[in-house]
Amino acid sequence: MRTDGGSRSPFQAASGVWPPWREILAASADTGTALARHLPVDAAEVDQVARRYPIRVNPYYLHLIGSPDDGLFAQAVPQLAELADQDGLVDPLAEEAHSPVRNLVHRYEDRVLWLVSSECAMICRFCTRKRRVGRSVPPEDERLALGLAYIRDHREIRDVLLSGGDPLLLEDERLAWILGSLRVIPHVEILRLGTRVPCTLPQRITPDLCRLLTKHQPLYLMTHFNHPAEITAEAAAACGSLADAGIPLANQTVLLKRVNDDPDLMIELMRKLVSIRVRPYYLHQLDFTRGASHFRTPIASGLEIIAALRRRTSGLCVPHYVVDLPGGGGKIQLAPETIVAEEGGILLIRTHHGEVIRYPAGRNKR
Ligand SMILES: *Cc1c(COP(=O)(O)O)cnc(C)c1O
Repeated sequence: MRTDGGSRSPFQAASGVWPPWREILAASADTGTALARHLPVDAAEVDQVARRYPIRVNPYYLHLIGSPDDGLFAQAVPQLAELADQDGLVDPLAEEAHSPVRNLVHRYEDRVLWLVSSECAMICRFCTRKRRVGRSVPPEDERLALGLAYIRDHREIRDVLLSGGDPLLLEDERLAWILGSLRVIPHVEILRLGTRVPCTLPQRITPDLCRLLTKHQPLYLMTHFNHPAEITAEAAAACGSLADAGIPLANQTVLLKRVNDDPDLMIELMRKLVSIRVRPYYLHQLDFTRGASHFRTPIASGLEIIAALRRRTSGLCVPHYVVDLPGGGGKIQLAPETIVAEEGGILLIRTHHGEVIRYPAGRNKR
């Protein structure tokens, strides 16, 4: 990870002073030529991929990237493998089919996923919504009104998860309007924001934003960190001000080949998250997204990571390992097998150290 920051970044990060987030975002690299000014890439190759899947790397994230094999490079920099992938699915979770109104996915009874933004502070190469992020138009007022009407009409919805794109790329006023409109619906208890901004553009977490979010509690913020090098002083400050504002923070990590598919690295990441007051929530098996299959890992690798976390660190550091089944089957938790066998009402349970211990199953007698 680079720490000097200044020489290849449009901004002098070495001083630790960044301009306002809009300015950082506006200086993002979005062409091969711009990226090649900072990183060892072939500009023509990058542009070839970008014609199909847009690129955006903002100067903050750019200054964290060191060498092509450091785990941050691959998350941000396009590769030709994206174009070669023809097996992946354009909409791997059948979100469009589960959308009663456009941009709103109602798959689980008591909660909805509402895509209120189409922009991100960085376009991740493994994005599950590669089909739309950075190129679809954001829902305009009439479409938002349709989503709100749907939520108002469905009293079983008690939890609304705003995503996109990234909802924190909306202006404060627009976000305030959306949150305020949801808050007056009596059956909506929980609001959630799914955002990568604390990781990719922590400067977006301003005092004004924290005040805005505090007003709409209970509101949970779901962050997305994938690598320990992403937990910088800036990210820690952003998460700290959110936590101080009373916003509970939970993290979703995507398991990515050659980026974070390593138990030691994952332990470091989860511990660092807990130390900045972010509770690990999900470890996601990569979806079958077209253009991202070069990031896929075997299921065994995820199970091995969970086993290592269980064995070597606290329960607070262990996320649920989930696979979101193709076609809309939903998120299913996978866990290493701990019950070895059952013999006459006695379970044989394997400890984290491989020992097998007998434990009564405790069945009710008929
Ligand atoms: C992940 C997801 C949610 C939220 O699920 P939780 O398991 O409650 O975090 C809601 N709707 C959709 C469509 C999702 O994919």
